[in-house]
Amino acid sequence: MHCHLDLYPNPYQIAKECNDRRMYVLSVTTTPKAWHGTQGLTKEYKRIRTSLGLHPQLAHERFQEIELFDQIIPEAQYVGEIGLDGTKNYRMHFERQMSVFKHILKSVERSGGSIMSVHSAGAVSSVLTELAKHKDAGIPILHWFTGSKSELRKAIEHGCWFSIGPAMLATKRGQELIKEMPHNRILPETDGPFTKLGQEMMMPWNVVTIHGQLAKAWNSSPNEIADILAANFATLIDSNKRLRV
Ligand code: MN
Repeated sequence: MHCHLDLYPNPYQIAKECNDRRMYVLSVTTTPKAWHGTQGLTKEYKRIRTSLGLHPQLAHERFQEIELFDQIIPEAQYVGEIGLDGTKNYRMHFERQMSVFKHILKSVERSGGSIMSVHSAGAVSSVLTELAKHKDAGIPILHWFTGSKSELRKAIEHGCWFSIGPAMLATKRGQELIKEMPHNRILPETDGPFTKLGQEMMMPWNVVTIHGQLAKAWNSSPNEIADILAANFATLIDSNKRLRV
């Protein structure tokens, strides 16, 4: 549900291998300018879809591209990476991030709503407040959730989904949070190439690592987990068909 295919050193090769392995991948972008090129990486691969994004960590440098976002949104079926980042290196740009995020949610709402991959590091409450004002923007999937348990409860009440990956589940905090997440609103992600599996760059297909991690956290088996995730994916895709009609 969240992989930066275009930012791998050899994106064509990685995209081809994902296709050869018959993987479904949401290939997220960080700026509207990256949309066409990133989509071009995988246009023959039906299981790989590109989402239109403007990353909150880039909002202060790329806010002018919001116009391009509005131009592309009618043809983009998926949105992300979008959101807010209140962590210490980015909170000085919070106002700019907020105006970009509000604009994006309005724009997505006008276009009929989308599945949205949302970044919420250090900013869960603000993200939920804005999402609540734009219910018709679609289905938010909070990616790599790092908030508190009470913020998690609010996100669940709001109807958010969660995409989680091996890096998140490798931390104690991540393992605690996953115990509280609804099993029917979880999808796997890698956030590659920004994450590592041991010492190696995380590859999209390393995502299956979470089957074992989740089985442990939920007292289940890796096969059962694979079935749950597949069923969740089917539900989400079905919901997406009802959006944008
Ligand atoms: Mn990301």
